[in-house]
Amino acid sequence: MLQLYDTLTRKKHAFNPLEEGKVSLYQCGPTVYWTQHIGNLRAVVMTDLIVRTLEYSGYAVKFVRNYTDVGHLTSDSDSGEDKMEKGAKREGLSPKQIAEKYIAIFEKDCTLLNAQNPTISCRATDYISDMIQLTQKLLDNKYAYSTELAVYFDTKKFAAYDTLSRQKMESLVTGAGKGTVEDVHKKSPTDFALWFFKAGTHAHALQYWPSPFRSRLVENGEGFPGWHIECSAMSMKNLGETLDIHMGGVEHIPVHHTNEIAQSEAATGKTFVRYWMHYEHLLVNGEKMSKSLGNVYSIDDLQQKGFHPLALRYFFMQAHYRSRQNFTLEALESSVNALNSILSTIMLLLQVDKHEGSIIEDQHKLFIEAIEDDFNIPKALAVLWEVMNSNEAPKDKLATVLDFDKVLGLRLRDILKYTIPQKIHAMIKSRQLLRKQSKFDEADTLRMDIEREGYKVEDFESGSIVTAKKPLELLTA
Ligand SMILES: [Zn+2]
Repeated sequence: MLQLYDTLTRKKHAFNPLEEGKVSLYQCGPTVYWTQHIGNLRAVVMTDLIVRTLEYSGYAVKFVRNYTDVGHLTSDSDSGEDKMEKGAKREGLSPKQIAEKYIAIFEKDCTLLNAQNPTISCRATDYISDMIQLTQKLLDNKYAYSTELAVYFDTKKFAAYDTLSRQKMESLVTGAGKGTVEDVHKKSPTDFALWFFKAGTHAHALQYWPSPFRSRLVENGEGFPGWHIECSAMSMKNLGETLDIHMGGVEHIPVHHTNEIAQSEAATGKTFVRYWMHYEHLLVNGEKMSKSLGNVYSIDDLQQKGFHPLALRYFFMQAHYRSRQNFTLEALESSVNALNSILSTIMLLLQVDKHEGSIIEDQHKLFIEAIEDDFNIPKALAVLWEVMNSNEAPKDKLATVLDFDKVLGLRLRDILKYTIPQKIHAMIKSRQLLRKQSKFDEADTLRMDIEREGYKVEDFESGSIVTAKKPLELLTA
């Protein structure tokens, strides 16, 4: 039985979805104004592993991830500039062009990491009318109020506001709204904007829409949605008013997800999310990633250093999603070696015995125990290694690791499609002939030639088997 840790209750629970056999899952996606760094991409891989685990366990998963292409200010609260406009100014493009550019890079990176596509990828700017409707509902039932600058959610009206963060309102007040007070009519610092009018600091906003909300400073209620209402609107529109799982980084607990719960539950009167899941951060060389430290890596940076993106996926899998993980280039190098070792063993296993094998029961059981224990992928990976190093029949080992890879997503099956070049086969044949003739020195020279070509030979009673030395490089990205 699948157990998962729920942030709201700070406990592990048996997983029971709303509808038997189905899971609705929402992940807060990227704000698409910049190339996503490997910390953001860890979140992508963690979600992918969770979705694959759910699918492996027999659930039909409807997985929705959004793109924030408007309304996320440079602070998670109500102050600062819209990140999309910041990106647009930086590159002399329109916010829409910026969104197109960075969505394309993000999707390419997800493919390189072998992360499955969400069932639905949605853009905030396509859901403006849903955000307006939700905001109107909150105004109608008095959970929201209007000033000349924005429509705010009234956090004091929602009694359970601090349930997710477990931070007292007073401590959130001190944390909220650092910087300049932009709206003197905002009732409480924890109140957050559902709709910003195209006025005040946002008078020159590049992206805005008419709305039914009224301010004397703008015509037709022109403005744009707040970041938090976007996720509530997109998730509920696509998944219904109660979601099974909502995922995001731990940084979303005190503000973004706290606000999502408040506005969604105030609007519907229903439980918004049954299980809240949060992943921890990635550190680089023991420190938080920052431009000033020069430790912010993108996939492209790593590819330019010669690393295969799948090695990064393997690296991520070595830590549990709720644990912090420290990235170093040395650790990534170890992941390259580990993955090469797995792939070349697979090439070998296939050649030893081409018959269909069956899954090894004992290890299969251990694997399921690991993934069903709050998605313990590091433990599942250890079971994979146990299989690789076991004395079981090669064909059964192969069948078992390929089955595990449905969850792990390391593209192990892809290496089986690779055929050793004719030239190498010819060299192997010549070497076998030399060995038969007891010309061992010449045979050895030929073996070294084969190695120089990037392959290695292993001799068995039944004959010689050739595998690639660095099979990872054969998996075209
Ligand atoms: Zn979100």
